[in-house]
Amino acid sequence: MTTNAGSVTFQNVRKSFGSFTAIHDLSLTVEPGTLVTLLGPSGCGKTTTLRMLAGLEHPTSGRILIGGKDVTMLPANERDVSMVFQSYALFPHMNSLDNVAYGLESSGLPRRQARQKAEHGLELVGLAGMGGRLPAELSGGQQQRVAVARALVLEPQVLLLDEPLSNLDARLRRRVRTEIRELQQRLQFTAVYVTHDQDEALAVSDQIIVMKDGEIAQQGSPRELYEAPASPFIADFIGEANVVPCEVIDVSGNEATVSIEGLQHIVPARGARPGRNQLAVRPSAITLEPAETAAFPGRISHAAYLGDHIEYEAETSGGTLFIVDPSVDRPLAPGTRVAIGLKNRGIAIIAQ
Ligand code: ATP
Repeated sequence: MTTNAGSVTFQNVRKSFGSFTAIHDLSLTVEPGTLVTLLGPSGCGKTTTLRMLAGLEHPTSGRILIGGKDVTMLPANERDVSMVFQSYALFPHMNSLDNVAYGLESSGLPRRQARQKAEHGLELVGLAGMGGRLPAELSGGQQQRVAVARALVLEPQVLLLDEPLSNLDARLRRRVRTEIRELQQRLQFTAVYVTHDQDEALAVSDQIIVMKDGEIAQQGSPRELYEAPASPFIADFIGEANVVPCEVIDVSGNEATVSIEGLQHIVPARGARPGRNQLAVRPSAITLEPAETAAFPGRISHAAYLGDHIEYEAETSGGTLFIVDPSVDRPLAPGTRVAIGLKNRGIAIIAQ
């Protein structure tokens, strides 16, 4: 199978349904051979964006380019993309081989060649020898792999995946997402992946585009989004975070000294200026020590033992903090007064 990876560009794309604007002014680029995820809460416009790329919806204004070619008004069947749907959309009465060969035959490839290619497609996704089985004779994860093979054998410039794991149970979801990522890296195809699951997005993506209310809230690599969230929304949406008010006291080179409820701490500066700001504090970046008095005092209000860690909530004058503590040997009972401390990692100024 040859790779035919194309780029994707949206230029100032807007999409309205009647008087409701679902996508405001979307500009984005997907580099060839990368996997980019559209991530965001329900209703933020992920599916509409993917459907416009597939040609199933047309923008109200703006342009869409695939591999440098303007496809804005082209119908779905004239675009060089294939889509993997949530529901797999396999033909139930056809075996896996015929399901994979179907698109190839419809596009005019002779039956023998189509079936040869389909066999190779099944091999690629680890289903060699399963071509004779009907969808109902395969597990959910295997059906999803048939759907991926069916899209891949068409050698599209871009593979579109619409919540491809949502019908799988949690354990299988983890395995299949690893397989999809491994396949994408091996074959180097361009993929646009839609999900509302943060962990899934972090695990599979080169770049994540976080959407909110029809706009891009932030775009970056998984690490950039996690370590340098641009807003409280991103801080809490990518991983979990306590958003805590702080005062940036001093900035020196790459470091900033901040004061949180009277406790001073040094964090990466990331362009922050002295003055009031907010910190994203990961639950695992907080330490708790029993103490009657402290610079940053708190009181445990809730504790839950979860095997390899304890989850706490602590009340402070800056609000309730959520804490994940790996030291399970020394549980702190609700009511305990504690000194709240901060570790060196897992704390970021939220750029304003
Ligand atoms: P989910 O995760 O729930 O699938 P999403 O982020 O994919 O959400 P979209 O399906 O893109 O969201 O929908 C974005 C907004 O556009 C929503 O408010 C939705 O109600 C609206 N919308 C989508 N399709 C239509 C349509 N055909 N007519 C009217 N409104 C629509």
